[in-house]
Amino acid sequence: MTGMPRVTLSFDNGPSRATAQVLDVLRARGVRASFFVVGEQLRRPGARALAERAVAEGHRLGNHSLTHATPLGVADDAADAEREIDAMQSLLGDLVPGERFFRPFGGGGIIDRNLLGRRAIERLVQGEYTCVLWNSVPRDWENPQGWPEVCVADVSARPWSLVVLHDLPTGAMARLPAFLDALEARGIELSHELPDECVPLRRGKPTASFAALPLS
Ligand SMILES: [Zn+2]
Repeated sequence: MTGMPRVTLSFDNGPSRATAQVLDVLRARGVRASFFVVGEQLRRPGARALAERAVAEGHRLGNHSLTHATPLGVADDAADAEREIDAMQSLLGDLVPGERFFRPFGGGGIIDRNLLGRRAIERLVQGEYTCVLWNSVPRDWENPQGWPEVCVADVSARPWSLVVLHDLPTGAMARLPAFLDALEARGIELSHELPDECVPLRRGKPTASFAALPLS
């Protein structure tokens, strides 16, 4: 591999009571990230203010489904896709005035045929969504202490990683500063851009990585 690896950070499944802590760490270091939020979380008291804060501090806010219940490729159902994608986008409302970002969810971060069905893809194309996947999942929820070391090793082996973390109260986010320190010590660059490899649709248009998407 030539050049130093690059890392784009994303935080899924919030907002939660861990989100303010994550925002504090990112603000202190001048790092921008993407937050893919779940509707049922966003409806909880105080959650919308956290999402507003994330936007105000320069982060990208994306749609991570209304209920995060059944991955959209499992049933491949039109009503399900519309609710999970479009009803959630309506709930986000003016929190996301520009480009609409959607991140599907899979069991434990696995990208397989369960992730998206043809009907979900239709909704994403018609709604001109940018679909954001990932290529690095250090499983912070399972390993709240050790995930930074796992993740640093993983991103060191790839030119550009889009890392999935979770702004959830698992205890894992207490190690976010140590993780960022370790990246900095290795000269790994943090980016706010999204690598094409992880973006099969941009504003509803298939990219080069669309063909690699495993569809049910
Ligand atoms: Zn998720």
